[in-house]
Amino acid sequence: MRKAGRHFLQIPGPSAVPDRILRAISAQTIDHRGPDFAEVGQTALEGMRTIFKTSGPVIIYPASGTGAWEAALVNIASPGDRVLMYETGHFAFMWQKMAAKLGLRPEFIEGDWRGGADPDAIEAHLRADTNHEIKAVCVVHNETSTGSVSPIAEVRRAIDAAGHPALFMVDSISGLASVDFRFDEWGVDVCISGSQKGLMLPPGLSFNAVSEKALEVAKTATMPRSYWDWHDMLGPNATGYFPYTPGTNLLYGLNEAIAMLHEEGLDNVFARHQRHGTATRKAVRAWGLDVLCARQGQESGVLTAVMMPDGQSADAFRATTLEHYDISLGNGLSKVADRVFRIGHLGDFNDLMLMATLSGVEMGLAQAGVTHSPGGAQAAMDHLRETPVAQMAAE
Ligand SMILES: *Cc1c(COP(=O)(O)O)cnc(C)c1O
Repeated sequence: MRKAGRHFLQIPGPSAVPDRILRAISAQTIDHRGPDFAEVGQTALEGMRTIFKTSGPVIIYPASGTGAWEAALVNIASPGDRVLMYETGHFAFMWQKMAAKLGLRPEFIEGDWRGGADPDAIEAHLRADTNHEIKAVCVVHNETSTGSVSPIAEVRRAIDAAGHPALFMVDSISGLASVDFRFDEWGVDVCISGSQKGLMLPPGLSFNAVSEKALEVAKTATMPRSYWDWHDMLGPNATGYFPYTPGTNLLYGLNEAIAMLHEEGLDNVFARHQRHGTATRKAVRAWGLDVLCARQGQESGVLTAVMMPDGQSADAFRATTLEHYDISLGNGLSKVADRVFRIGHLGDFNDLMLMATLSGVEMGLAQAGVTHSPGGAQAAMDHLRETPVAQMAAE
């Protein structure tokens, strides 16, 4: 049966694609080796540097974020290399699993999934590596399975305090363009991102922002690589071209997304996400439920993971909510499967879209018979009304 009105895609990525971007993507595909392509390519490659806040190169792959994870590892490592990773949640676990599958030796600092990476634990681990064998420290910026943000600048300080030469690699697949991120200022060596979260595009593009130091390490790193090779990309990229067929239409969309982000101003975008995160947490607490992220100041503006009352099924609740209100909520992943649901509040999103989302959740809680108190949507409305947005000048 036809469902009237728009579906609410409130998973924490893919996020709903704004009409402006859909229209940009719908333009006819052009010859990616022809004269008109150079401007498309150059605009995207230059534009992404302003989003990562880097003066160095950004590599763009026609791949999902997982591809760019692999690219980051195979460009800087040699078989058997040790890499230090931190268990912020499911995505950190999957990146660690990939490193092991590729023949690296990941060392995984255990986490409780309720906050970001702990800089002190990373510093202590690096200090113990007196021979400086660890090749890279890998941290997830915005852990999409838990709704926690890692303190990236502090992790950099921890690496420096340990006097360790490891590269610093950050997965900001769901953080970039939603949560403050500063590649150069924070001394990141490789940042991985993807198109379908804060960048508001459909899935299919992913990114590596790369420091000078990482490019140098890549020259002698011996992991087999071909499709992902940074140095093969950089030659053609210098004139706006790619060594193989790029995601041409997604690049049209990317250029539109970058323009939209700068029209709003990145700081306004970050503040908007944070405000929606705060309003959502007020709703969750008014329902009498718990937010999975338990570290104050590390709660994500991208999504909120909500813990179900003991013995009640998050997946049954999500199915009921989808059936009755045509809204998709994120599921709990691996360790927290069926124990948690995730509310995405990222991308091209405003107050009334948040209120529709939270109303859908509140109606769904009642419909599915989940133990809760009513009034969460009201608490969020009160917060939004009481904290009007102070618009900073756009860039
Ligand atoms: C979405 C996501 C990934 C995986 O990206 P895909 O595009 O699904 O391959 C990895 N890490 C984080 C933090 C993510 O949010």
